[in-house]
Amino acid sequence: MKILIRLLQIMGSTWLTMLIAIVFGCLTIGSNIGLLAASAYLISNAALHPAINELSTAIVGVRFFGISRAVFRYLERYISHDATFRLLEVVRVWFYTKLEGLSTARLMQWQSGELFSAIVGDVEILKEFYLRVLAPPFIGVVVFSTVCWFLAQYSMNFVYVLTGGFVVAGLILPIFLQTIQKSTAHKLVVARGELRAQLVDSMTGIVELAAFNQTGRQARLIDDIHQRLLSLQSNVSKLSGLTDAIGLFVVNSTVWLILWLTIPLIHNGSMEGIYLAVVVLTVQSSFEAVLPLPFAVHYLGESMAAARRLFTIVDTEPVVLEDEGMINIPDTRIDVENLSFRYSPESPLVLNKISFAVGAGQRLAIVGPSGAGKSTLLHLFLRFWDYQQGSIRLGGHEFKKYDASKLRAMFGVVTQQTHLFNASIRDNILLARPDASENQFDQAIKHAELGEFIEKLPQGYDTMVGQNGYALSGGQRQRIAIARALLKNAPILILDEPTVGLDALTEQLIMETIGKLMTGRTTIMITHRLTGLETMDEIIVLSSGSMVEQGRQAELLANKQLFDQLWHLQHDVI
Ligand code: ADP
Repeated sequence: MKILIRLLQIMGSTWLTMLIAIVFGCLTIGSNIGLLAASAYLISNAALHPAINELSTAIVGVRFFGISRAVFRYLERYISHDATFRLLEVVRVWFYTKLEGLSTARLMQWQSGELFSAIVGDVEILKEFYLRVLAPPFIGVVVFSTVCWFLAQYSMNFVYVLTGGFVVAGLILPIFLQTIQKSTAHKLVVARGELRAQLVDSMTGIVELAAFNQTGRQARLIDDIHQRLLSLQSNVSKLSGLTDAIGLFVVNSTVWLILWLTIPLIHNGSMEGIYLAVVVLTVQSSFEAVLPLPFAVHYLGESMAAARRLFTIVDTEPVVLEDEGMINIPDTRIDVENLSFRYSPESPLVLNKISFAVGAGQRLAIVGPSGAGKSTLLHLFLRFWDYQQGSIRLGGHEFKKYDASKLRAMFGVVTQQTHLFNASIRDNILLARPDASENQFDQAIKHAELGEFIEKLPQGYDTMVGQNGYALSGGQRQRIAIARALLKNAPILILDEPTVGLDALTEQLIMETIGKLMTGRTTIMITHRLTGLETMDEIIVLSSGSMVEQGRQAELLANKQLFDQLWHLQHDVI
């Protein structure tokens, strides 16, 4: 019920259009009933050879309802589809806005395919919510009341029989269907989501799957889910066939009963014979309003399951809570004091009482073996997570006092996994600053040393990079990341192992370009490669979340502790 109310609240802005569509839905079925009733009256009356003027009202009625049925049906379809697509837009925008507020850290806990499935699939299912769930009961009630009023003019027995037929077809049948396929709707939504998630996963990891000869295994996994989905869909189809058959049986039984009740009324003269066909066809055509109801129950189940999944994602607590009194950022000095952090209350401390400082314009390197907590520290700097103990201060003020987006605007980032969008090279670079001038763009290209490479491409800056930039080498991707950082021109630079996976020569060339990028910027570089660190003002060494050493490279080597060991390990190997 709570889910239903929330869903109705989201679609609140489209209610007027939906109401108009419902009115046209009622008018369409009304016209259909009118057409059949007027035709029955016309044919029955004509059989008695009356004067032609006695038939003229019925003739006009048939013409009117014949035309109005088509016009109303068109308007109802047009408006209801318009309302549905508006609703889809509303739900998509609502969902995306909620996702944005969740921050990267929370989104990491969902598989990318799961989010994709929610954005595309679950939202799509919700479009049925109006067309097949909300509208049919309203139309059913309006048509039922009007037809009952009409039948009551002849006999209350007609009303009782029609009520019986409507209750069976519109209430008992849907409840029966709901009981039988109670969990099927939920299972269908879950299986569809799983299939999409697996497909996205397989496409993203296709290289690994091929390299480890696991494509067959993955294909079998997808096939299993597909078979499960097929069997669920086949169950739904069987049930919908059965429901159709039972529905038709109820319609025809009601019509027979009405006919059976009409004959004695005509015999004893309390009803004129020409109304026999009118009453019978009115009853038969009124069922058009009730037959969609069993399916409304099925789609209600699917819509609720889809909505539940969407709400579970958007209800995830944001990990970064904005402080009320946000302040402007004065300068770029960073002070970290007794900083401790764990990912959740149950998990162990990933950072344990870390303290260090980076003055404005200084360069700090954070080094240490894998799992030491280097990336976690970076996530805290970018406010993907909020720390629990200790403090990080920027320009003398606590990090949590800043608006997260203003804070992130202070940081330029070059990471080991530069994501490139399936767009042109120009658009990928402009991502950092869409309103950059031509001159600013040219300067960024020049300093990132991308010009020569791009000019050789047949379409230059307009060359599409392909899905996640598959058409570019590692070095070229990193130069695009550097160009982005240059264009953003943020005063603090975060480098997260920017040369991982590059060959030695490319690494050296990229580090030279990064050297220029660091000029005049406060820099924090995370690395486990201990080369080129002699230019850093300070190096901190992390191990299992604790800071074990601190100083310049020469001091750390002289200390003969962890840094010295790691340094010799790497240089001896080289
Ligand atoms: P490094 O970058 O030095 O390799 P990380 O900061 O990535 O180290 O990881 C430090 C520890 O935190 C590891 O034990 C890792 O398993 C854990 N960790 C990293 N990310 C998460 C996360 N999102 N949720 C829970 N634990 C995490």
